[in-house]
Amino acid sequence: MNWKRYHRQIIIPFFGEEGQKRLEKARVIVIGAGGLGSPVITYLAAAGVGRIGVVDHDKVEVTNLNRQTIHAGRTGENKAISAVKYIHQLNPEIEAVAYPFMLSPDNILEIFRDWDVVVSCVDSMRLRYLINDACFLLKKPMIHAAVFETEGEAITFTYQNGSPCYRCIYPRAIEHETPGIFGFTAGFFGTIQAAETIKLLSEFGDILEGRMIRVDLASMEWYEIKVRQRDNCELCSGKIREINPERYGHI
Ligand SMILES: [Zn+2]
Repeated sequence: MNWKRYHRQIIIPFFGEEGQKRLEKARVIVIGAGGLGSPVITYLAAAGVGRIGVVDHDKVEVTNLNRQTIHAGRTGENKAISAVKYIHQLNPEIEAVAYPFMLSPDNILEIFRDWDVVVSCVDSMRLRYLINDACFLLKKPMIHAAVFETEGEAITFTYQNGSPCYRCIYPRAIEHETPGIFGFTAGFFGTIQAAETIKLLSEFGDILEGRMIRVDLASMEWYEIKVRQRDNCELCSGKIREINPERYGHI
């Protein structure tokens, strides 16, 4: 492998060749190739993450293009397939796998088994519960972000060290209508997700374990919220032991 491409990150003392080798061996699956998924996919591929999976059943529409920058010129194509084309263009040295269908209670465990880290870039709470539960059961770290207009949140769930899960924070689903969103908001939080993934894989820095950051890019107010495991969390208390399709309703 030609590491010249990664020179500027290899010269960072706490990353180095060791960090690069860890990225090269890593397998990361990104759920959703939309506004958050675009920067996640861009920075993971450019950094040399060895294998990247992309799950998305949707087609690229013109209304996506204010934020979904990886799909330029591919309106009408499936987003997972378009993302893989983009990855191959950006970095032909890495492997990319498209899952051009919907993630469901029936296929999620089978799909996640082959990957080290899951990055959740979806916009449905029911789907986030499904991803959270599958990652908890498989003990795979999951990096979450959600965005709305100029605001967003991000946190990393390791499902270790007594840390909380997504259900600990949001015990009940709140359904939103299609929200307005600026491209920069998705770009900002997707970039945080890429940073969290790379720190987790190459073991440097401090990840957002047990702390959620919230930022409003309009007022430029930043918050860090400490989050703990909730005593009666259905997942962390062991009540949920398998993926039961009835629990997730219509995703
Ligand atoms: Zn929990």
